[in-house]
Amino acid sequence: MSIIKFGPAGLGSVKEAISNLKEFHRLGLRACEIAFTYGAYIKNKNDALAIGKIAKELRIYLSIHAPYYINLNSKEIEKIEASKKRVLKCCEIANYLGAKRVVFHPGFYSNMKSEEAAINIKKNIIEMLNVIKENKWHVELCPEIMGKVNVFGSIDEIADLVKDTGCGFCIDFAHVLARYGKHKFEEVKKAFPQKEWHIHFSGIEYNEKGERNHKKTSIEEWKELLKVLKKLDKEIVLICESPDPVNDSIVGKSLAQELNINH
Ligand SMILES: [Zn+2]
Repeated sequence: MSIIKFGPAGLGSVKEAISNLKEFHRLGLRACEIAFTYGAYIKNKNDALAIGKIAKELRIYLSIHAPYYINLNSKEIEKIEASKKRVLKCCEIANYLGAKRVVFHPGFYSNMKSEEAAINIKKNIIEMLNVIKENKWHVELCPEIMGKVNVFGSIDEIADLVKDTGCGFCIDFAHVLARYGKHKFEEVKKAFPQKEWHIHFSGIEYNEKGERNHKKTSIEEWKELLKVLKKLDKEIVLICESPDPVNDSIVGKSLAQELNINH
C-alpha cells in the first residue's frame, strides 16, 4: 500500500513561514511546496536555514515550485540561460531549506516537433544536473506534466526526460485531466514505475486547449485519485494546488483516513 504525505502549495511569506509550518503540523499535514512561482522570495540564507530547521523538526517535507517563466527550449539563448539560472537559484535555496525537490515547467515547443524540443530540454536539464552535482546540492530536478496541449510536458515527454537524464518528475493529475480529458491513471502508472512519486492535485477547468484554472477539488475527484493510489505501493508526496490548498489537503487527508491509507 502507498504512503501519502499531504500538504499545500504555498508556505506564505518569510515572516509567516514558521508559524504556518507549525499550523500545518497541528493540522496533521506533512508536506509543503514553497511557491517561488513569481520569484525566489526567500533570499537570505539564514532565513532558509531557520525555516528548514523547523520543517525538519516538524517532519514536514519541503519542495519548491520554480518560477513560471522558464523555457528550456527557447529560440533565444539568453532566455534559456536566464531560465537555467532561475531554476538553479531555486536549487541553491532548496539546499539550505533541506527541500528535496525543485518542480519546474520545462518549456514550450517553440514551433518545433516534440523530438526536437526534447533534445534541447534534455541538454539543458543535464547541464543543470551537473551544476547541482558540482555544488553537492541534495536536490532533485522535477519537470512537471503540463496541462496545456501546446506546452511541452506530456506524460511520455516527461517520462522520457526521466529515462534519458536521470532527473525526477512531478505528476500533476489536474494537468493530465486538462491535457487528455481524463486522468489516465493506467498510462501514468506505466510511465512512472519509480517507487517515489511527487504529485500535484486539484480540481481543474479546461477546454480543448487544455488547462484554464485550478479549482477546488471535489470529494469525488479526491476519492477517485486516492482509491487508485491506495492500490499502488509508492511513497507519495501529494501537493494540493487548489485555490484553498490547506483546507483541501485536510479534506484529502481525512478521506485517506477513511480509506485506510497510510499518511
Ligand atoms: Zn506547476
